[in-house]
Amino acid sequence: MDNWAILGIPVFSCGRRFDTGGNQVYPLGESGKEEGMKVAHNSEIPAAKMDVPGAEKVTIRWLVGEKDDPPNFYMREFEIEQGGCSPRHEHDYEHEVYVLEGEGSVFGGGGEKPLRPGSAVLVQPGEEHQFRNTGDGPLRFLCLVPKDAT
Ligand code: MN
Repeated sequence: MDNWAILGIPVFSCGRRFDTGGNQVYPLGESGKEEGMKVAHNSEIPAAKMDVPGAEKVTIRWLVGEKDDPPNFYMREFEIEQGGCSPRHEHDYEHEVYVLEGEGSVFGGGGEKPLRPGSAVLVQPGEEHQFRNTGDGPLRFLCLVPKDAT
């Protein structure tokens, strides 16, 4: 029996669901509950050009956005082409950024720091910031924002 089941919490394990007694209830996907969960692929979501002053060669995909009605966060995927950058700006909400592809830098705290796939960035409220592509290919990253911020 799974430890979580001992604690009285129903568990899902690799495609199977167990009740609090450790008995398998039904395979994942047959409950009817999972079908309502949003699962999308970035290739299905159109990329829009970021059309604000100071943005150069930047596109944005709203992976999780207004139409999904999440309680707290939106998730955006940015792509900055070679030589491009986001505008240098600040605002009263945070960004949580995770780099997926490419080489770049983030300006913040008076300096510039390098970014590569796997880099995670917290931009604090009020912190001036700018992302730049410093590599030969696209710079692609996730950027999460509180939904009230947009
Ligand atoms: Mn920002």
